[in-house]
Amino acid sequence: MAGLKQTIIRGGLESLYFSGAHIALRSFVQGVGAILTLHHVRPPRPGRFQPNHILEVTPRFLTRVVNALRRSGVDLISLDEMHRRMTEGDFKRRFVCLTFDDGYRDTLQWTYPILKKAGVPFAIYVPTSFPDRLGELWWLVLEAVIARNTRIGLFIDGRDRKFDCGTVAEKRALFDELYWWLRARPTEKEMRDAVRSLAAYYHVDVAAFCDELCMSWPEIAVLAADPLVTIGAHTVSHPMLTKLSKEAVRSEMDLSRSVIEAALAVRPAHLSYPIGDRSSAAAREFAIAAELGFKTAVTTRPGVLFPEHNQCMTALPRISLNGEYQRLRYVRVLLSGAATAMWNGFRRLDAA
Ligand SMILES: [Zn+2]
Repeated sequence: MAGLKQTIIRGGLESLYFSGAHIALRSFVQGVGAILTLHHVRPPRPGRFQPNHILEVTPRFLTRVVNALRRSGVDLISLDEMHRRMTEGDFKRRFVCLTFDDGYRDTLQWTYPILKKAGVPFAIYVPTSFPDRLGELWWLVLEAVIARNTRIGLFIDGRDRKFDCGTVAEKRALFDELYWWLRARPTEKEMRDAVRSLAAYYHVDVAAFCDELCMSWPEIAVLAADPLVTIGAHTVSHPMLTKLSKEAVRSEMDLSRSVIEAALAVRPAHLSYPIGDRSSAAAREFAIAAELGFKTAVTTRPGVLFPEHNQCMTALPRISLNGEYQRLRYVRVLLSGAATAMWNGFRRLDAA
């Protein structure tokens, strides 16, 4: 399912680019700016089973994107400056914000040197359980269980199911099936319980992923000390907020802000919703983030920014730099707004 969707997106991007349609549509759809979403930035790794590869781009690609944006004359700005331009209606120049979710160690190792050298501001959204070493990067746990076994069993919908995953093709198919099955669990607890039992049965150490991949508080503090870097909130436990009670949503947002403030002496004014798609963050979450006083909050709903977004600053769309499409021409099409305008049916706001 996810694979099919990616193929359609890629097909759409290629045809938009080669037809030149994005140039024709530009004045209609390009908006006033865009916020880019990134996760990992690191050199490519060997291995054919990398189902989470969409979440990483190479240092070389990031460098090329930054250079291309600079050449194209857009301003690369911080979230605070984006907020100012949006609320004051200052749209003299187009702008792009770079944002990195989850606080991975490669943000310090690879992203920071590139953006520091280029003098480009950026934001990191930190789920506080990750540096607290209590985080569950469940999508990586699932990947590890499937990678290390040729057959796995799982209690699904009231019965024991067995799955073969000896070949790369089987592993990819099984990851997709189980990933979307997990995402569809009615509660976050049910999803986490299923992942925990898989990890326990197949001897995958859940805590090890945080230790290995995520920055510690002292590492985050190095970045937070640089005026180029904005530290944003990304909840405590990185849940799909729509599945929690209203009180729990409020607590996830507010507590994460207080924990970051206690650890780094900076109070985050910006928020990113975990997962961030329609099934993870919607009108209730947008309202709570606004009530709590966040200046901006970002989703992963695809789109560029229009002046009208100043009416819904806690429901902002972003453009994801996807590891499967590391071509500058894709970035140009996405930033033209043409691809996301088609995706959104030419509707500019999507804040419900
Ligand atoms: Zn995240």
